[in-house]
Amino acid sequence: MGLIKIILEYKCSKCSNQVKSEKIECICPKCEGLLFIEPQKVEIININELKIEKGNFWKYHKFFPPIEKKYQISLGEGGTNCIKSKNLGKSLGLNNLFFKDETQNPTNSFKDRVGALLVSHANSQNYEKIICASPGNQGASIAAYSSYAGISCFNIIPKRIDEGKRAQMYAYDSTIEIKGDTVDDLIDYAEQKAKEEYFYQATAELNPLTIEAQKTIAYEIIGEMGVPDWLIVPMGSGGCLISIWKGFDELKEFGVINKLPKMVGAQVAGWSPIVDKYYSKKPITTSLKTSHTLGILVKNPIYKDLTVKIIKESNGTVIAVNENLILSTEKNLARSEGIFAEPASALTVASVEQLKDQNIIEKNEKICCLITGSGLKAPYVLQALTHKSKTVGIGALLSTKLKILQLIELDSMYGTQIQKNLGDISLSAVYQHLSELEIRDLIAREKKQEKRIYYNITPKGKKVLEAIQTLVELF
Ligand SMILES: [Zn+2]
Repeated sequence: MGLIKIILEYKCSKCSNQVKSEKIECICPKCEGLLFIEPQKVEIININELKIEKGNFWKYHKFFPPIEKKYQISLGEGGTNCIKSKNLGKSLGLNNLFFKDETQNPTNSFKDRVGALLVSHANSQNYEKIICASPGNQGASIAAYSSYAGISCFNIIPKRIDEGKRAQMYAYDSTIEIKGDTVDDLIDYAEQKAKEEYFYQATAELNPLTIEAQKTIAYEIIGEMGVPDWLIVPMGSGGCLISIWKGFDELKEFGVINKLPKMVGAQVAGWSPIVDKYYSKKPITTSLKTSHTLGILVKNPIYKDLTVKIIKESNGTVIAVNENLILSTEKNLARSEGIFAEPASALTVASVEQLKDQNIIEKNEKICCLITGSGLKAPYVLQALTHKSKTVGIGALLSTKLKILQLIELDSMYGTQIQKNLGDISLSAVYQHLSELEIRDLIAREKKQEKRIYYNITPKGKKVLEAIQTLVELF
């Protein structure tokens, strides 16, 4: 059983130098420009071959470097829908607004395409360990696919990351190292560690197969809705926009399509280095502490120049959206279209609103927003969105336990007695509260002459009750 080495063919984006290597390369040895994988010479004849099939990312295998079927790993990624807007488009006066819903992927983001391709490549080359520096989604996907392939995964993440993404990495049993403020700070470290310890390199910026995997988003959009007039993509490093453009551009070269979409790159106002570059402005970055769009905060995006070039070439534009608008759009998108997106994705929909206001897009044009990942990955946003009900919830919870403590401080009581005194509450809920109070040693059981169990307040319970009453008076 000989291992078939896959020769990867690269081309430099700066000097067009061609490089062939078995290894993952990303920097041109001649000019230090960025290397990209040369497109496979495929014979596709008609658009029908691009039609989506749910969960069938590998349908596009002939566009990738040749990885044998036995090494191909899938968790059912790809084939996500382009959903036509039912309500938001109407309210904006747009007749053809679509959402490419990548939350439908196995780990709920577009990065599962990358997970499938990179881990399969590592698998075909017999790697036992994979390393990935990422601000979230790519790391979570690589972790999932590595588990499935039986390869151990090492995630390097910045200090602040969406909790849901970190939880996914833990769940998939990856080893996690926290380092630096944004993903920029982690890349060199990941590169060095991979070389020293023979890891497969799965960091987006260091592995151009990432771009190849993400290209399939373009194929699927074409297969489902044709070439849109406008395609709106969130930008962190700029890699996602470049990938999708590469997908469209190569198919135009192959003669499969005859036009290209206008690309819109969206970033968060206050942290928008690519938008600033586009307008030749000096970049300003605000504090990380308040941000809800952690996944796309990159200090010095590696693809900055190339992204700006592509956007200009496509006759598109860039846009920076205020974070409050992103969060309110996230809520609207969920409530009016049933899509719960992470803030970085709601950003694309918020951009549409601004483009419409500025008369840049017209009512009958086909507009596609890329929804990169699920809102469940950023639970603090959920908390912010439901702040009011959450406060009420905690208040209600607190007051029930507080009432119980107050009741039994006066006299020991049994369950149904407490229920009667509290009023509108089920007996099982009362026992739930009692058991939680008991676990915390705030109340204790006492058996009296009857068979009933009575509850008393403990000395600790008394102290807590006193403290809570002080707090309640204070606020
Ligand atoms: Zn070069």
